[in-house]
Amino acid sequence: MGTENVLRNLQLVDGRIVDITIQDGIITAITPPGQAEGENVLDCSGLYASSGWIDLHVHAVQDLDPYGDNIDEIGVKQGVTTLVDAGSCGADRIGAFYTARLQAATQVFALLNISRIGLERTDELSQLEWIDRAKVLKAVAAYPDFIVGLKARISESVVKDSGIQPLKLARTLSEETKLPLMVHIGSAPPAISDVLELLQSGDVITHYLNGKSNNLFHPDGTPLQELLDAAARGVHLDVGHGTASFSFRIAEQAKAAGIALNTISTDIYRGNRMNGPVYSMSNVLTKFLYLGYSLEEVIRAVTRSPAEWLGKPELGKIRVGQKANLTLFSLEAGEKQLEDSEGDVRVTQHYIEVKGVFANGSLTTG
Ligand code: ZN
Ligand code: ZN
Repeated sequence: MGTENVLRNLQLVDGRIVDITIQDGIITAITPPGQAEGENVLDCSGLYASSGWIDLHVHAVQDLDPYGDNIDEIGVKQGVTTLVDAGSCGADRIGAFYTARLQAATQVFALLNISRIGLERTDELSQLEWIDRAKVLKAVAAYPDFIVGLKARISESVVKDSGIQPLKLARTLSEETKLPLMVHIGSAPPAISDVLELLQSGDVITHYLNGKSNNLFHPDGTPLQELLDAAARGVHLDVGHGTASFSFRIAEQAKAAGIALNTISTDIYRGNRMNGPVYSMSNVLTKFLYLGYSLEEVIRAVTRSPAEWLGKPELGKIRVGQKANLTLFSLEAGEKQLEDSEGDVRVTQHYIEVKGVFANGSLTTG
């Protein structure tokens, strides 16, 4: 019989306070506060718990530069128990990444870059011969439980003279592999309307709150009709904050227009983790609290919502009988500056701080 851990007086984001009993890494009871008994009782009064956070857009390949980082630095150490690497690797490197991630405490999935070279260069879709159909199909067949979608970065500096053609090829590959697309948007060409019309239900637009001139909102702040149409047909909207892709101004326009908040992801890598403006998942989540979303809405965007997109709804729940996969955090009072990708600084009076995770059978506190 293994150790029985009791996390006492945890607050869930729906307001309930509970004791969670965990035996051999499995949740065995969720009971009213103060009632559970066990060998190791940890008083968690004042802490929140949610299912482990899921970051749908990161760059987790250690030796890629600039878009790379260490898996656990951007994973469990930041309260993120599951991350999705967003196309750092194409077919050339995905096997090495599949092996590397086995050393990490964080659970890792990958979106396969349709360019075989991935982010070895930052203009990975400028040469159409790098989109190698046979290599994509072979990689997807080799790692079916690891590759959860395809990634295509469709903006000027990536596609160069290839225009919309890489996205058309991505669409075909998506149909052949039955995998959704995550599409990075940014500066034109291609024009944003040409990008949106190729996206289908289950596909993801990442960087939807970017403030570049080719963004998803009119100058008067109203959303493009093509954005409303895409959302209505089930295209998923993902934040993908990154170095250059989150604007408070646009985020306020999105909220005012009632655009649904689907998933909050960081697009984190070494540079924007150490020097900002991303720093961490908790910092990005705090920006959405500042914008006026409730704690429940914000946490849903890193738990239930990405879990459902992944087709793994259990990852977004805390349930008896499931593997314990929890993020513990607090809501702290105090002034903190929040900077977006455009240098716009806002001041918040409360912020989210990660206190630890329970994953892989044990509690790690930060
Ligand atoms: Zn991007
Ligand atoms: Zn990215």
